[in-house]
Amino acid sequence: MITLTQQFTKPISKTSLQEVIRRDVALSQHTSFKVGGPADYFASPRSLDELRDVLAFAEAQGLSRIVLGNGTNSLFPDAGFRGVVIQLTRNFGTIRIDEDRLTAQAGASLGAAMGYLRVKGFYDFDGLVGIPASMGGALAMNAGIPEFSISERVRHVTVLAKDGVLLRLNQEECDYSYRRSIFQKRDWIIVGAEFQLGGERRFDSEALLQRRRDRQPIQSPSAGCIFKNPPNGPGAGKLIDLSGLKGLKCGGAMISPLHANFIVNTGEASAQDILQLIDFAKERVYKEFSVELQLEVAVVSNANLR
Ligand SMILES: Cc1cc2nc3c(=O)[nH]c(=O)nc-3n(C[C@H](O)[C@H](O)[C@H](O)COP(=O)(O)OP(=O)(O)OC[C@H]3O[C@@H](n4cnc5c(N)ncnc54)[C@H](O)[C@@H]3O)c2cc1C
Repeated sequence: MITLTQQFTKPISKTSLQEVIRRDVALSQHTSFKVGGPADYFASPRSLDELRDVLAFAEAQGLSRIVLGNGTNSLFPDAGFRGVVIQLTRNFGTIRIDEDRLTAQAGASLGAAMGYLRVKGFYDFDGLVGIPASMGGALAMNAGIPEFSISERVRHVTVLAKDGVLLRLNQEECDYSYRRSIFQKRDWIIVGAEFQLGGERRFDSEALLQRRRDRQPIQSPSAGCIFKNPPNGPGAGKLIDLSGLKGLKCGGAMISPLHANFIVNTGEASAQDILQLIDFAKERVYKEFSVELQLEVAVVSNANLR
């Protein structure tokens, strides 16, 4: 791990904070589930310095903070978030190709990066077609399909630590495995990454998109797969299906009749409705198959905030 800059010492700029932090922003507007109450503070920093200002502000006020990408794998409580939600997708969107390297900022959309790569004759992200992620979210979640994950192309990832220090981790240091990374355990903000292009593997992106259309309820608000697939045996969706839970409703939330590992918001779902279905599915699968399903979706709670 390389330290790129030292601790930040510049005083916090109050003007910039007023411009980038909003109060009481509905998180339902920023998540694909379309649920979640207000964030006390919602920050969209425009530069690294402003991001550092936001961190310093949160620290000075004793506020918890969380990073949000495109919100396609996140479930916030109905009560909202008692702290600062930091979103980079508005301003950290630069994508650049130099020879066989891609450099992308965390706020760039994965789809935009894929499109740009194709224009330049690279197909390295084609396996990820249809994943509605930001680069930061994709790197934190190690987004992928059974045959391929984003981590395969990572050279290094740059993060901002709480004290304002910028660190660079090589692929090994990111500790990647199935939908897992070191970023889920550390209090770091991914600001960008570099990827190696020119991989040999090819995916038929049209066929992959068709597979999604056929098997996933992509028209309804959801957060993708709720649970990770267990290491052995049938996938989480199959286990939930075999437990007879397809189509089960709780308030406005429903276990998708198309793909049992998706919970969809049928219109007026609350986070509580979704959480109840999650708990129910977990319990039922355990009872039927003695398999303990692990969450893939990032469930945010105010309970364990400082
Ligand atoms: C219809 C649909 C289909 C999907 N299909 C797939 C699929 O095939 N494969 C797959 O892997 N996923 C899939 N997903 C889930 C989701 O798109 C991925 O997990 C994606 O990587 C999340 O990216 P995001 O930017 O939306 O992350 P968010 O939901 O915004 O965040 C997810 C997590 O990453 C953290 N995070 C986000 N940005 C940063 C950052 N800059 N620094 C540090 N941490 C950060 C957040 O704190 C949170 O814990 C699907 C979702 C939907 C709605």
